[in-house]
Amino acid sequence: SSRFSKDFTFLSVLGAGGFGCVTKAQHNVDGKTYAVKIVKDMGEANREVKALATLEHSSIVRYYSTWSEDANWVDGSYSTESSVLSKISEDLDNYSDQGDGSTHVTNQSDLDLSETASEDQANHSMTDSSSRNGDWLCLFIQMEFCEGGTLKDWIITNNGRSKDEALGIFQQMLCGVEYIHSKGLIHRDLKPENILFGSDGMVKIGDFGLVTTITTPSAASMYRTVNKGTPLYMSPEQKTGGKYDEKTDIFSLGMIYFELLWDMSTVSEKIKVLESLRTQRFPCNFCKKFFFEHKLISKMLSESPANRPNAKEIAAFLKRCLLQNQTGQLLKTV
Ligand code: ATP
Ligand code: MG
Ligand code: MG
Repeated sequence: SSRFSKDFTFLSVLGAGGFGCVTKAQHNVDGKTYAVKIVKDMGEANREVKALATLEHSSIVRYYSTWSEDANWVDGSYSTESSVLSKISEDLDNYSDQGDGSTHVTNQSDLDLSETASEDQANHSMTDSSSRNGDWLCLFIQMEFCEGGTLKDWIITNNGRSKDEALGIFQQMLCGVEYIHSKGLIHRDLKPENILFGSDGMVKIGDFGLVTTITTPSAASMYRTVNKGTPLYMSPEQKTGGKYDEKTDIFSLGMIYFELLWDMSTVSEKIKVLESLRTQRFPCNFCKKFFFEHKLISKMLSESPANRPNAKEIAAFLKRCLLQNQTGQLLKTV
């Protein structure tokens, strides 16, 4: 029998991505609400769990437990999952309409299991039980439920946010990234929809689906980026499949910091501006309005990873700027 349906009461679908979905579920014994991510277990999935289990930080989504079980996603026999599935199909229709190219699954997504099952089973050696039609070995990852939603939604609903608000969020993300790198890991998928807010309103970095180690970056796990749109936040070296290190996260962080500072009202405007930003073309008023931020972001978006500051250096830079600002020397807005 299913541990998920025995221990949890399914509440809703929080999000769906290329290789699974995240549900909101209440634990039947402790009564607390959790986010339970369900991903097809194809050997690579445990990378995400291993990373999460290693990381313990106030700016990283808290991990509770994991288990794997057979899940029938296609027929009604596995009742909880089938209700999840029908919700996901609804979600998928909404997601593929948004057109900002950032991350959304298309109708051809891997969640369309009835179509892709046989293909994937040919590509990945599956266990005996999961070779039955419609059955999958799934990894269930129980995490802290971040009730504040994603940074992507926060940006949309907080037009006219202040410099200080942007800085506060950036500093928290930076703190989390510095910690991730200090553990020898690279996140590789930093973007607003993978940054969450906890119930305390603090930033929580989530989605370790692409995580890898600094010493042996794995090209293999890049497969989880397939079926996604234009990688707006992804460093040029990662995008082109070149060699990369933890500085790939610094590039993404620079893109996000810019987006926090600069209001962009439509999705098409956002894509246009961010595409230009990737090659250091800032909107013309940006550097006047944000003098030190422009200097920093420009460094973070350096084409050559070696020229990007690391998380520690950025933190030190911010500290110096804030000090100077207090004595009214820098940061004067025009
Ligand atoms: P994959 O990594 O396999 O490609 P994914 O990108 O869909 O999957 P996540 O980014 O982890 O997986 O989760 C998808 C969405 O679900 C998030 O963008 C967010 O909206 C929501 N979500 C994920 N984790 C949580 C959480 N702990 N609390 C609240 N919402 C969450
Ligand atoms: Mg994600
Ligand atoms: Mg992901």
